[in-house]
Amino acid sequence: MNELINASLRDISRALTERRLSAVELATLFLERIERLNPTFNAFITVEPDKTLAQARAADARLASGNAGPLVGIPLAYKDIFCTKGMLTSCGSNMLSNFVAPYDAHVVEQLSNAGIVNLGKLNMDEFAMGSSTESSFFGPTKNPWDVTRVPGGSSGGSAAAVAARLAPVALGTDTGGSIRQPAAMCGLTGIKPTYGIVSRYGMVAYASSLDQGGPMAKSAADCALVLNGIAGFDQRDSTSLDRPAEDYTRALGYSIKGLRIGLPREFFADGMDDEVRFAIDEALNVYRSLGAELVQVDLPNSELSVPAYYVVAPAEASSNLSRFDGVRYGYRAPEYRDLGELYSRSRAQGFGAEVKRRIMVGTYVLSHGYYDAYYLKAQKLRRLIAEDFRNAFAHCDVIMGPTSPFVAFPIGAKTDDPVQMYLSDIYTVSTNLAGLPGLSIPCGFGAGNLPVGLQILGPWFDEARMLGIAHQYQQQTDWHLRMPGGVA
Ligand code: GLN
Repeated sequence: MNELINASLRDISRALTERRLSAVELATLFLERIERLNPTFNAFITVEPDKTLAQARAADARLASGNAGPLVGIPLAYKDIFCTKGMLTSCGSNMLSNFVAPYDAHVVEQLSNAGIVNLGKLNMDEFAMGSSTESSFFGPTKNPWDVTRVPGGSSGGSAAAVAARLAPVALGTDTGGSIRQPAAMCGLTGIKPTYGIVSRYGMVAYASSLDQGGPMAKSAADCALVLNGIAGFDQRDSTSLDRPAEDYTRALGYSIKGLRIGLPREFFADGMDDEVRFAIDEALNVYRSLGAELVQVDLPNSELSVPAYYVVAPAEASSNLSRFDGVRYGYRAPEYRDLGELYSRSRAQGFGAEVKRRIMVGTYVLSHGYYDAYYLKAQKLRRLIAEDFRNAFAHCDVIMGPTSPFVAFPIGAKTDDPVQMYLSDIYTVSTNLAGLPGLSIPCGFGAGNLPVGLQILGPWFDEARMLGIAHQYQQQTDWHLRMPGGVA
């Protein structure tokens, strides 16, 4: 049974369809692991075994009927930002600590229809604001590779759950790096799709023009399979793109020969730790040995991406979070004298410090008199950053570099200095500002056996090919199959 925890989704699916294993047995295996190991990692906020097993029984019925698709019976866990009908959806916040969603997010609905078995809801930075999962109302998640360190964030619960093999795959969201950076810090593969590919309906909004959901798994092949299940048009999200359906597994056999890999000068200048640089260089050597050509490209406005992001994202957040007022749902302060006090006390008590900081920054940059100087300027930078990528992709097929400038850092190391925390996102936020797809794959270890992630960025709608490029690397290396000690 235990080799199952490291098996690919294809192999698991085969075992299920050939009836060598039932969906109930599989779900039970992971539920038992969650019960045993989650107290150490704090990856899950909610686990409801009865509901999980009911879905597994339904999957078994479909499997017995003989024409089950590749996701029937596969267990998956959701970042607690996705609404799940009848289940707590907290978004890592006290504000939603009593919110039971009355409906399913589009992706949850899609995956349920495809036969996925929901293992539960995963810890995250409050309202997805953070890079370490330390801002959660439910306490920090621990990195399975070293429990004194953060798993990255904001999808740190998703990353820790898959790294500790408490789930074969999880969903995360990425507004400025929250799929890729925790994937890098926990030794996983994660993809943030092109903006508009995955519906945001039922995904609690942080910064709506940047947010995008995506899979976090062991391998690119597993991510491709799950992306097939969640991508696609949804009229309930006005930014969802109506494009022909794609099979994201179609380019897994892609040949690397002649691939032009762009290395942005700005990503390889100062800033990344030596241990990260070493692992990235080794990974590029693997690609070179497979026939890729490395070319230098420029992203001249890279250094402006963090400042631009930390204007645009808080601006949108301040607007999105204005709906949490303690009236219709969510946390309500127990004592207040009038309506004004109900609002202000509920928000003061319901939101944590980082969320309040973002609301204040966002309100400030949108205010009359500062709008032009901050918000409008950030929007202009956003255009320039997208142009940089467009120009770079004229000279290369994909861009590669580090996902994070450093490996997982100790819990508490950056909590007193928000700017240091924000700099964790230096290589990831520009992707979201431009709406581009990006993925991270494990490519080695730094000191202390901590994973390093290689980031692959491609042109808009290039997910299938990027997953193929990642898959070819994973055919040559086994970083993605390594497990932290103590979880087997
Ligand atoms: N760390 C970034 C932030 O705090 C990105 C978060 C995300 O992608 N959700 O905003």
